[in-house]
Amino acid sequence: MEAPEILRALRAEANPANVAGMARYGISTNGTLGVPVKSLRKLAKSIGRDHRLALELWDSGIHEARILATIIDDPALVTKRQMDRWARDFDSWDVCDQACQNLFRYTPHAWEMAAKWSAARPEFVRRAAFALMAGLAVKAKSAPRERFEAFLPLIAAASTDRRNMVKKSVAWARRCVTQVLLLLISLAAFAQPRKVAITIDDLPRGGDSRDARDLVSIRVLTSKLLDPLRGIPVIGFVNGGRAEQLGAPGLQTILKLWVDSGATLGNHTWSHPDLNTTPLADYEADLLRGEAAVSQALGRPPLYFRHPFLHAGKDTATRRGLEEFLGEHHYRIAPVTLDNSDWMFAAVYAPALKADPALAARVRETYLVYMDSIFAFFEQRTREVVGRDIPQVLLIHASRLNADSMPALLAMMRRRGYQFVSLEDALKDPAYSLPDNYYGTGGFSWIHRWSRTKGMPNKGEPDEPGWIAEAYRNLQKVQ
Ligand SMILES: [Zn+2]
Repeated sequence: MEAPEILRALRAEANPANVAGMARYGISTNGTLGVPVKSLRKLAKSIGRDHRLALELWDSGIHEARILATIIDDPALVTKRQMDRWARDFDSWDVCDQACQNLFRYTPHAWEMAAKWSAARPEFVRRAAFALMAGLAVKAKSAPRERFEAFLPLIAAASTDRRNMVKKSVAWARRCVTQVLLLLISLAAFAQPRKVAITIDDLPRGGDSRDARDLVSIRVLTSKLLDPLRGIPVIGFVNGGRAEQLGAPGLQTILKLWVDSGATLGNHTWSHPDLNTTPLADYEADLLRGEAAVSQALGRPPLYFRHPFLHAGKDTATRRGLEEFLGEHHYRIAPVTLDNSDWMFAAVYAPALKADPALAARVRETYLVYMDSIFAFFEQRTREVVGRDIPQVLLIHASRLNADSMPALLAMMRRRGYQFVSLEDALKDPAYSLPDNYYGTGGFSWIHRWSRTKGMPNKGEPDEPGWIAEAYRNLQKVQ
């Protein structure tokens, strides 16, 4: 179709009653025929893309022919010069907005022209700048965030323009650009790798078995536990008293394996006393007794202290008293966010390895599924309590179960998008300075401490499966 033919078709559909109606919406009557946009879209479909025809239709000066031109033009062929010329021709808000939404926002010059026009004097050119920004925010959501951020000062600068045609498009752009920025910021937060610090308690070996606590067995267990962790920051919390049968040199042999593999060590007391039932003075003496072996292995005093059972003080006096003592001895408390019952699985696993290998395999598989659910729970709960993801601190124990599961555990964390960071790096997040007003006998995740402090209803992590808990109870009866 050629331009004269199209103009004839448009004139044939002219409707003066429509023109009067459009005028009430502030649409210019200059060269306006009163053809509904619906009819224009239908006509455009039969024409297809045609850059040359679009230019001819625009030059007719007819209102509807111009809107038709914005629909059929090819954005790839539109030049900056054409955009400037058309913008100067705008005499009605609907032509301006149609040009921006149908055509300009798809051209390669959209970002540049929006910025340029934002300070233009003519009312409709300035309007076009912000109609274009709004259009980009809707259609170009995958554009780099900086491009939208650059619009913010331009929007702010134009917000003093009281002219109606400008005022409305500035408000429109502000709404759309803010929305897309919020979206991009939250997407960026999700795209960030998650972070976790791995902390391993009850060195040299936790309470998962009474057997195999000799130097050779513990050395084998330790090597198996640490081999997959090479290159990954790890901190081990030591209970020297758990290995009295090794003697002081035996303990140092095991701790040296940790230090040589690149891990650091923290103090977890000597004999794992319970702060809920041990007088503070005795507890502090036990803590200092534990410090000596760790200092010897590290060649300096340890920086971190982990409470046995995560019991941090049953009342204000106990908690404050211990914290004061830890401060005097230059300790930093090692909190835990990803708390779990790995110790319960481990206690069922170790005897099963000898007595029932099929059961041991089942415990290992169940343990991985359970740990995956622990991660899922605390990730969600962290967002509820802190409002965002934070570097997590995982607590697991030096057990045969973890030695045998470490490659699979690491794979699970990587699958969930985790990068491994040191405890020190994790604790740099300001979340770890959140107020914690929990004074009580419970030993649980710091996420729960923060949620209680905020007065949020309590929400516990997933339970271990019933059959694991039952097997654990049965073992306790036997012992
Ligand atoms: Zn412990």
